[in-house]
Amino acid sequence: MTDHYKEGWNLDNSYARLPQAFYSKMDPNPVQSPQMAVFNDSLAESLGLSGEELNGDEGAALLSGNGIPDGALPLAQAYAGHQFGHFTMLGDGRAMLLGEQITPDGKRLDIQLKGSGRTAFSRGGDGRAVLGPMLREYIISEAMHALGIPTTRSLAVVTTGEPVYRETALPGAILTRVADSHLRVGTFQYAAKFTNPEDHKALADYAIKRHYPELEAEENRYVSFLRAVISRQAALIARWQLVGFIHGVMNTDNMTISGETIDYGPCAFMDTFDPATVFSSIDTQGRYAYGNQPYMAVWNLARFAETMVPLLDEDQEQAVGLAEKEISAFSQLFTQHWLNGMRAKLGLAKEEKEDETLIKELLDLMQKHRADYTNTFIGLTFDQLENANLSGDEAFTAWRQKWQERLNREEHSGEDAKELMRNSNPAVIPRNHRVEEALAAAGKGDFQVMEDLLAVLSHPYEHSEKQKEYAALPDPSECVYKTYCGT
Ligand code: AMP
Ligand code: MG
Repeated sequence: MTDHYKEGWNLDNSYARLPQAFYSKMDPNPVQSPQMAVFNDSLAESLGLSGEELNGDEGAALLSGNGIPDGALPLAQAYAGHQFGHFTMLGDGRAMLLGEQITPDGKRLDIQLKGSGRTAFSRGGDGRAVLGPMLREYIISEAMHALGIPTTRSLAVVTTGEPVYRETALPGAILTRVADSHLRVGTFQYAAKFTNPEDHKALADYAIKRHYPELEAEENRYVSFLRAVISRQAALIARWQLVGFIHGVMNTDNMTISGETIDYGPCAFMDTFDPATVFSSIDTQGRYAYGNQPYMAVWNLARFAETMVPLLDEDQEQAVGLAEKEISAFSQLFTQHWLNGMRAKLGLAKEEKEDETLIKELLDLMQKHRADYTNTFIGLTFDQLENANLSGDEAFTAWRQKWQERLNREEHSGEDAKELMRNSNPAVIPRNHRVEEALAAAGKGDFQVMEDLLAVLSHPYEHSEKQKEYAALPDPSECVYKTYCGT
C-alpha cells in the first residue's frame, strides 16, 4: 500500500481549472517493470517529498504512471509553436502533468512525467522516451541549477523495462520534471490561434497570477506582463552565453513564460570558444548556434508579443506600437546583463564604457587560438593559462596589460576581484565527453559514473582539487561534435 501522507504529496491543479481548450485529461499509461534509476533527494526534500518513501519501488511506480500520487489530475497540455521557423500545432505528445506540488515554503511547482506514453497530442509518436536522453536532461538541468541559472529541474528517472523503438530498440525511461510551470510562448500561440478571446485572456491572467503577481494591479497589466517576460528572457539568455550553454532547439514551444530554461534535447556546453558552434544534429542551418541565441530569443519573443497584441489595446495600431516598443528593449537589456556578467568574470565591479571593447578583444583572441571558453576564464582567475598559443601571443600579453590597468582602476582590492572571478567562473561544466561517458556506463547498468559526475557538477564554484579531473578537455578522440534529440 502506498502511504500518500508519508510521501508528502501536496498537489493542487490550478492548470486544470483553466478553460478546457488548454488541456486534455488522460489516464496514465502503465509500464512493464518500473525501476528507479536516479532520484534527487535534495530536490525531493525542498518539495516536501520523502526520499525515504519515494526513492525505491513505490516511487518508481508513482513516477512512471503505474499509480498516481494523491491529489494528481493527469493531463496533457495543449500548445503550438514555431519549430525551426515553421508554425505547427504540438501539445504534450509524451508528457503528462500530474499537478502542482505546493512546497513547504509555499511555492507552486509543476510535477510532470516526460516519456509517459501517448496522449491526445501524440500524432504519430509513441509517447515514449529513451533512457540516455532522459538522463542527459537530468544531468544538464541539475548542472544548470547549480550554476545558478533558472531552469526546470529533475526529480527522478525511472526505467520502464520496455524497449522504445527508434533506429534500434533502446531502453525506455520516464523523467519527472519539476518546473515553475510549463507555460510556453507556444501556449500563447495556441491560445491566440485556436481559442476564443475569453480563453486567451484567461490564460494571460493565469500566467500573470502565477508568475508575475506583482503586476496584477498595474494599469495595463498585459503590457507589463509582456515587458516582464522579455526582461526575464534577456537575463536568462545572457546567463546561457556567459557559461557557454547552447540550447540547440530554441523553438517557441521550448521558451517558457516563467523565464526558466526548458527542454534539454540536443543541448551542450561549448568547449572551444566559437560563436558558430552548433551541436544539434537537426540544426543543419546553424539557426540555434551559440552566437545566434540572443537573436533567436528576440525572434521568439516577437512571436509572443504578436499573441499579446489583442490584449494590449483595443486599437490595433496602438497595440502593435506597444508590442514593438517592448520587443525593441530586448537587445539593450540582454547586452546589459551580458556585459555585467562578463565584467564579473574578469573581476570588474564598476562599469566603464570601454569594457565592451576589452571583453570583445579577449573573445576574439580566444576564438583565434581555439581556446577553451571555460578554462580560459579559470586560467585568468588562477593565473594558470593552459593554452600556450593564446598565452604566447603578443596581442594577448598586451591585452593582459590593459586588463590589469583596468583592474587597477577598480575600487575593490585585488583579492576582492579574485573572489568575484571565483564566484563567476565555474570550475566545471557538464562537458560533453563526460556526459557521454556517464550515459554509456548507465546504459550498461552502472549509474555510479553519473552519480560522481552529478556530485562534482553540484558545486561548480567550489574550485576543489577533485574538480580538476572533470575540467580537463576531451582527447581529440573523445570530442563530441554532434548531439541528438533522442526523441
Ligand atoms: P521537443 O522537441 O521535445 O520539444 O518536442 C516537440 C514536440 O514533439 C512536442 O509536442 C512533443 O510532445 C512531441 N514529441 C516528441 N517526442 C515524441 C514522442 N516520442 N511521441 C509523441 N510526441 C512526441
Ligand atoms: Mg519541447
